Amino acid sequence: MEEFGIIRLSGEETFKIIKKIFIPKNKNTKIKGYNMKYGHIINPKNNEIIDEVLVSYFIKPRSYTTEDMCEINSHGGSIVMENILQICLENGAELAEAGEFTKRAFLNGRIDLSQAESIIDIINSKTKKESQASVKQLEGFLSKEISKIRSKILDVMVDIEANIDYPEYDIEQVTESRTLNMLDDVKKDLNKLKNSFDNGKIIKEGIKVAIIGKPNAGKSSLLNALLREERAIVSKYEGTTRDSIEEFMNIDGIPVKIIDTAGIREAEDEVEKIGIERAKHIANDADLIIAIFDISRELDDEDLEIIDLIKDKKAIIILNKTDLIKDDYVVDTRIAELNKTIIKISALNGIGIDKINEEIARLFKINEIDSDNGIIVTNVRHKNLINKAIDFDENAIRSIKNNMPMDICSIDIKAMLECLGEITGENVSENIINEIFSKFCLGK
Ligand code: GDP
Repeated sequence: MEEFGIIRLSGEETFKIIKKIFIPKNKNTKIKGYNMKYGHIINPKNNEIIDEVLVSYFIKPRSYTTEDMCEINSHGGSIVMENILQICLENGAELAEAGEFTKRAFLNGRIDLSQAESIIDIINSKTKKESQASVKQLEGFLSKEISKIRSKILDVMVDIEANIDYPEYDIEQVTESRTLNMLDDVKKDLNKLKNSFDNGKIIKEGIKVAIIGKPNAGKSSLLNALLREERAIVSKYEGTTRDSIEEFMNIDGIPVKIIDTAGIREAEDEVEKIGIERAKHIANDADLIIAIFDISRELDDEDLEIIDLIKDKKAIIILNKTDLIKDDYVVDTRIAELNKTIIKISALNGIGIDKINEEIARLFKINEIDSDNGIIVTNVRHKNLINKAIDFDENAIRSIKNNMPMDICSIDIKAMLECLGEITGENVSENIINEIFSKFCLGK
């Protein structure tokens, strides 16, 4: 890729400013909806040529912001870019704030708030699946789902309001049962969205896996086999991996961060001790533990400590060095009793390694994480609002079941509508809007 730069202009004055500072080679072509022209940016004060550029024209409303827009494509280089920017400013343009173009697209109604937020997520995404989920959100899938849920609620809300204004016993009963059905139905929809966030989290942040095992069990060899690269130091001496090594691998598009911890053992010297404490800490913090045992030897106290550590955790048990054991080998009952998946490998020979990947994929249902179909909530703000809406939904259900008057119940239903409206930005305070757009970078 070559270095190049774009300066974007948006708003009523755009074409007026461009006319002052840009001399197109072909002056006669008329600008249609979208158009691109070749020419020179000049300083109108002294007619000095600043750069050779391409200018794209977007006539409203067919632009990113829905306003008249131009993009000046220059050869780039910070001095030239600064110069062009300065000339724009001298001729009537104002500097945009971070996220201002997207904010205008939102304020002008081209996209809703959740779509605007997805643009930040697309820019920041680290994996293909994550960017796919964000692109879907930009296309408006989440917005459509939210508005479908809102209209279900609004339908019934009309009845409730009428009932509060003209209370009649018969109608009240019908309204109550309709409301209950709606609340149940909406709760299901909202829970689906809520659950999708867990998948969204895996897509965004990946899975943190800690490899633990006593010194010489084969942690570094396993890491190497997993990564098929010789990055970790393999050594015959105990305790060489005193600190921990972190590596990323990729299982079906999901980032998996693997941490190879120092051996867990009774520490004698200070450095080892820190390593062990860290290992325990990392194991606690991990989404998954890979506990590795050397089965060419009997289990010892250090192994038992590891067994104790993983008892109640999500863990895969690896029995390493199968190349050194006899055919009649039986798994030690203390390991078998843990009731966890056991995989026999030879890290040295690369045998059984694929099974580990498969097991990670199975445990985290990676194959089911589908960013192509189904809506995935990836944004914490959205998730919190969905959770709040579920709480109001449950409150409303409770008050109907407790025979509370309909107007009490309608307070919760209105609050629920408001939460949902905040996701798409229908009723959201200026502070929140400013906070969201401040996370954008300049020029977006
Ligand atoms: P760590 O201290 O747990 O990181 O263990 P290493 O990966 O450094 O391995 C310790 C020793 O065991 C090294 O000499 C490795 O070559 C050896 N080793 C690791 N995996 C295997 C295996 O599957 N079979 C055999 N025979 N040796 C292994």
